[in-house]
Amino acid sequence: MNESEYIPIAALNQYAYCPHRCWRMFCAGEFTENEYTIEGTSLHDRVHSLSQEKQGEDWQIRAIWLKSRQYGLIGKSDLIEASNGEIFPVEYKRGRKGEWDNDELQVGAQALCLEEMTGKSIKIGYVYYAHSHHRQEVEISEDLRDRVRQTITDIQRLFTDNIVPQAVYSPRCRGCSLKSRCLPQATAKVARYQEIS
Ligand code: SF4
Repeated sequence: MNESEYIPIAALNQYAYCPHRCWRMFCAGEFTENEYTIEGTSLHDRVHSLSQEKQGEDWQIRAIWLKSRQYGLIGKSDLIEASNGEIFPVEYKRGRKGEWDNDELQVGAQALCLEEMTGKSIKIGYVYYAHSHHRQEVEISEDLRDRVRQTITDIQRLFTDNIVPQAVYSPRCRGCSLKSRCLPQATAKVARYQEIS
């Protein structure tokens, strides 16, 4: 597989949040900032300066690239830690833990890359929520691995078929930076009108 065909790990997060948003960002090349994305970008800019710390057998590395040939995934990590013989990814997010599982999916994808790169089994990862200063543990369970693999398959299909997933209005649209372009409520109204006419 050519490296340009690799799926960005962040695309899994976007796809799990909304397939239509994923298509707009990664196929149509659209992106619009809102207060949440600006805050998120500035958090990642602070985290994404390459650095390394070591204390005995434990270490932390920031901003290294993760890659999986097996799954065709690539992406920059926020933080990789080793502690008590275990290695785990930590993904930084603004805000608090939301109702959706897209952040867990991103950590699961990072864990699959790390396993391939280190040859070690990754059992847990974390999402660090900057507002609440809380590290949410993510178990790298079989169920999460299956969901990561299924999402990779779905995104591969999205990238090759380039069929636009329908914009479905939901509570997620409230915080979406692409809402003013996507107009999901108007799309839903047009679809309803077409159904009854
Ligand atoms: S506004 Fe809603 S439907 Fe449109 S891209 Fe955002 S989350 Fe998806």
